[in-house]
Amino acid sequence: MASPTKKANTTTNPLRNLIFWLSTKKRVTQGIARLGMRYGFARRFIAGETLDEALQAIAPFSQARQPVILNHLGENVATRDEARNARDSYVQILRSLRQAGIDGNIAVKLTQLGLDLDPPLCLSLTREIAAAAAAMRNSIEIDMEGSAYTEATLRIVETVQAEQGNAGVAVQAYLFRSQADLERLAPLKPKIRLVKGAYRESTFMAFQRKSEVDANYRKLLDQMFDQLLLPSGAGLRVAIATHDPALIDYACARIRRLRLMPHQYEFQMLLGIRRDLQQNVISQGHPFRVYVPFGEAWVPYFMRRLSERPANISFVLRTLLAESKKTNSN
Ligand SMILES: Cc1cc2nc3c(=O)[nH]c(=O)nc-3n(C[C@H](O)[C@H](O)[C@H](O)COP(=O)(O)OP(=O)(O)OC[C@H]3O[C@@H](n4cnc5c(N)ncnc54)[C@H](O)[C@@H]3O)c2cc1C
Repeated sequence: MASPTKKANTTTNPLRNLIFWLSTKKRVTQGIARLGMRYGFARRFIAGETLDEALQAIAPFSQARQPVILNHLGENVATRDEARNARDSYVQILRSLRQAGIDGNIAVKLTQLGLDLDPPLCLSLTREIAAAAAAMRNSIEIDMEGSAYTEATLRIVETVQAEQGNAGVAVQAYLFRSQADLERLAPLKPKIRLVKGAYRESTFMAFQRKSEVDANYRKLLDQMFDQLLLPSGAGLRVAIATHDPALIDYACARIRRLRLMPHQYEFQMLLGIRRDLQQNVISQGHPFRVYVPFGEAWVPYFMRRLSERPANISFVLRTLLAESKKTNSN
């Protein structure tokens, strides 16, 4: 399958297009990989390159009894061995969380487990991770990647959820198909993480304007809340994964009105983004989980975060400038 970052561009935001284009240029990504951790600008979004660094970074969350989702960064692996290594890494993360008594689960990308190379292998590795998590009374959340992978991802989620009952999946509000996907998934009751969507998608597949994506996010949230209230909705769980204050206010108002219980929903946000909103949601007493990525293969994730907010580029440039001034004055 083609890498989603290499598809024809259709996004309406020119700066976003430029960042997606730069993310396909090896010299740019290699330069960012060389400088990002050394000069610290990647550390705002990424909890280090090793599991030990990530466990240190999440200590404040666990001290505050806030659950986390750990993601070992990686996608579109090139060999089966890399896919197997990713499986080993996730099982190790689950063990480490248990040993350290940390309330946390894991988020996995299926192209990291070989979805591109060998779908049956990917299914069997995902099964193994879900079974290991189930044995530790834990759960896994499957990230959603570009639309080339949506159908294959949902099929694997359906299989694993039917077998283990501990899988969740991200559903992207920018995709036209998501309303039908939510209906399709409901009987199996995987935890659904509703996100806006982070990849470039064509006008045939996805809403392009922020206003359209936001309107669909509200619609899908209502659809999921309606499902929660049905007699068949027992056991469903919805994760509202956004940093958009208007959508968070909308969700909070609906949660209050429908008198949802804390076991039925949670808010999720990414490490290093809108800490003010994270605190706000927590102080209102809502369940909250922070998504914590770590690992050496952090550049694609970092580029997506840059593309979402132009101000992040000036943050990178300011860090580099400050570091170069320090170096010159030493
Ligand atoms: C927990 C979690 C898991 C996710 N999993 C997936 C997944 O599996 N698949 C997928 O496609 N996408 C995933 N995403 C990303 C998501 O699709 C969006 O790309 C991302 O969350 C930005 O959209 P937003 O909802 O925050 O709204 P936006 O409208 O983009 O942003 C709202 C506000 O949030 C702040 N903000 C947003 N992004 C940034 C940023 N990068 N840097 C600084 N401030 C920012 C700004 O203040 C902005 O005004 C996930 C997001 C979260 C929170």
